Amino acid sequence: MKKLFLLFFSAYCCCANAQTFKVDTLQYKGDVDKYINFVLVGDGFTAAEQGSFINQSKDFVNKFFAEEPFSAYRNYFNFFAIRAISPESGAKHPNNLAECANVSPKVPQSNPNNLFGSTFDAFSIHRLVVAMNSTKIQEVLSKHTPFFDQALILVNSPYYGGSGGTFPTSTLETNSNEISLHELGHSFAALSDEYWAGEQFARETANMTKETSTTLVKWKNWLNFRQTGIFDHDVNPIWKRPHQNCKMRFLGPSFCPVCQETIVKRIHQLTDPVVRFSPGNKNTISSQQRLLSFRLLELMKPQPNTLKIEWQLDGKTIFRNQDSIKLDQNTLNKGNHTLKAIVSDTTGNVRDAVFTSAQASIVSWIIDKTTTGLEILPDQQKIQSNISPNPAQGQTLISLELEQKNEVHIILIDAQGRVLETIQSGKLAPGKHGFELNTSQLPNGYYQVLFQVNSYRHSLPLLVING
Ligand SMILES: [Zn+2]
Ligand SMILES: [Zn+2]
Repeated sequence: MKKLFLLFFSAYCCCANAQTFKVDTLQYKGDVDKYINFVLVGDGFTAAEQGSFINQSKDFVNKFFAEEPFSAYRNYFNFFAIRAISPESGAKHPNNLAECANVSPKVPQSNPNNLFGSTFDAFSIHRLVVAMNSTKIQEVLSKHTPFFDQALILVNSPYYGGSGGTFPTSTLETNSNEISLHELGHSFAALSDEYWAGEQFARETANMTKETSTTLVKWKNWLNFRQTGIFDHDVNPIWKRPHQNCKMRFLGPSFCPVCQETIVKRIHQLTDPVVRFSPGNKNTISSQQRLLSFRLLELMKPQPNTLKIEWQLDGKTIFRNQDSIKLDQNTLNKGNHTLKAIVSDTTGNVRDAVFTSAQASIVSWIIDKTTTGLEILPDQQKIQSNISPNPAQGQTLISLELEQKNEVHIILIDAQGRVLETIQSGKLAPGKHGFELNTSQLPNGYYQVLFQVNSYRHSLPLLVING
């Protein structure tokens, strides 16, 4: 909530030098540092058209959550909408391609002064609507929602069109939302097209391979499930796809099982389902009470709830699938005991046991039973992280402060989730740590720094503008 307060503060009170827009919260599930933040930004909406932008945004959010597997992970997302105001209404359309004449209905020529320069006919393809001024988009996002994980541009045009890339776009035409969902497959989950997009896009990804063996292919766990197989690509059959009717091939159908699994893995990569628990601070708690409460106070639960919770005392399972338990201290011998709550997602969307167990979130408490009572030392701790300066020009400093000695992994990933650099891997002592990151070789744009401290995960966005 602290972050949200700051957001509203900055949205209304500061900085006369850059434009400030109102930010609407369309869905708020929790702390922006812990949940996944999607941000919708309008282009070609004038001040008078902001009501229409918000209605369209709500419509998009509904379509997004109607789509599998996002529907099951509704509780993992915050959605915000920035009411960016354009001087003039609509999208640009040069109307100078041969194919423009054959489009039905006809899209009139236009050249409005919109905020991000969104235009049809981008890269000589009529339906490719691209927001050309990505620097301006980055400026608006950094100012209003610097914590965003994924942004989408809604372009104020009633005609069919859209595009992918770091900032996917969609017009308001009904089928255009299908383009955004397809493009999110690329930008959120690094999926390949399952139509033949060209030799330059052919590479090994979660849903594209050259492997033909049914025992070795990366989606072997899905073969024969909902028509999943190993299918030739149209133009170059050396390359294989997992399905004949996936949203990564056609607009309309759902994501195939392999693409759904990849999206769910990405959601888990960005989140830890245990948000808050109790006892929740490092202070030693002495208790004379016979019954002690341990609670997982805030969990991100899929719908239906596929989280499995296992409570272990000294390695033995004592409770299952309860958010909170009571422990009777009369059952404990004097001395140290370890209580663990192990939370993992048993969703049918993922058939990768190694991934599921590696992603399990573990909260553990050390219970010291003394003659006078119990001392409880939660293993959980305050972890503070920061990136400054951000945006980075040439280099930046990633800092991390720990209360306890920990196994720490810090990696840099790009907007498609690809790992670019391991910044830290191994044990770190308590205290403050700083890591210089050289960004001069990175293309301008958005990146994420993922922190894993024991079983706790979170991410910070990093904007690189090398000028
Ligand atoms: Zn055109
Ligand atoms: Zn697919």
